[in-house]
Amino acid sequence: MLPDKHYLMIPGPTPVPPAVFAAMSRPIIGHRTEDFAAIHKSIVEKLQAVFQTKNEIFVLTSSGTGAMETAIANTVSPGDKVLALVTGNFGERFAKLARIYGGEVDEVNFGWGKNVDINVVAEKLAQNQYKVVLATQNETSTGVLNDIAAIGALVAKTPALFIVDGISGVGGIEIKVDEWGIDLLCTGSQKGFMLPPGLAMISVSPKAWPVIEQNTSPRFYFSLPAAKKSYEKWNTAYTPAVTLFIGLNAALEIMLQEGLDNVYARHQRLARATRAAVKALGLKLLPEEHYASPVLTAVWGPEGIEADKLRATAKKEFGVTFAGGQGILKGKIFRIAHMGYADKMDVIVAIGALEMALARLGYPVELGAGVRAAQSVLLD
Ligand SMILES: *Cc1c(COP(=O)(O)O)cnc(C)c1O
Repeated sequence: MLPDKHYLMIPGPTPVPPAVFAAMSRPIIGHRTEDFAAIHKSIVEKLQAVFQTKNEIFVLTSSGTGAMETAIANTVSPGDKVLALVTGNFGERFAKLARIYGGEVDEVNFGWGKNVDINVVAEKLAQNQYKVVLATQNETSTGVLNDIAAIGALVAKTPALFIVDGISGVGGIEIKVDEWGIDLLCTGSQKGFMLPPGLAMISVSPKAWPVIEQNTSPRFYFSLPAAKKSYEKWNTAYTPAVTLFIGLNAALEIMLQEGLDNVYARHQRLARATRAAVKALGLKLLPEEHYASPVLTAVWGPEGIEADKLRATAKKEFGVTFAGGQGILKGKIFRIAHMGYADKMDVIVAIGALEMALARLGYPVELGAGVRAAQSVLLD
């Protein structure tokens, strides 16, 4: 096996297009320059198209969690009531962050592998006055897609701010910030946006600004009022990851060139093909299909074979890396990402490797059955 021939199929970091790496290899520029300001402005305008918003969007030099901390530090003061809608590991992280900033968190756990039940949200909102509602668009730990439009419609009828973790979804799954009433949307660079790790993007609605201005929690690096002051001159408060900004500009150009509708349709198709293949192999999907994620597919380990052993075999023998389970699903599931710079043949590679790894471990697999199922979806 070639030692450097790898197929990275995890939900972040995801593969980076050669054109993005090429853009990032150009000589670095200063950030207090007109050149940087022009790039920054262009990035924000393109992000506004992706987010479907007129709101300000701040590009932060941090991983995705930095955007989550920004959202919490700027809206949750000690004693504030927070509703956290949890469907897995990242929902739990959001709730934990809110508690760390002194929030009085009402954490509703819908179960790992389940989606948010809208009726429960309606009940909770009718019975309580929350300052902030937290939700995860695409729960990466379980491959569940939550109905952000439906949650947003309910929250919009209350004074609460609606904060969404879209870190693994945005860029691969459509989101409508303005129409769905999302006050703060958090995203990251190394998932759907096809960049290396290191940037986070966050949008802020007009409804959120008065709350942000009055918030009493400590904030410095992640202060949104400080970010806004610099943003007005297309600058940043502290030194940004200039190279990644240039990469983000290139990645957004690629996305807009393909057309956002096509980007989303591509992800849907890859997900359908992957699910069809997994089922054809006799394996079980974690979430129900009607709310399964378009950007990654979570699968139960086969009967009698440890999911992590299967992953190790796929990696060692075929150079294909799948992600494992997190939290309570550790060792029980594996996750195949088809996120960002992913296309039809990536699914074929993933399923081909999965079949061979299963065969190697003695699972009764009909070689080609999964690939064939994927092919029929991809040809459709
Ligand atoms: C990856 C991810 C995060 C965390 O992002 P980091 O870049 O690792 O800080 C948060 N939420 C979701 C849904 C994610 O997929």
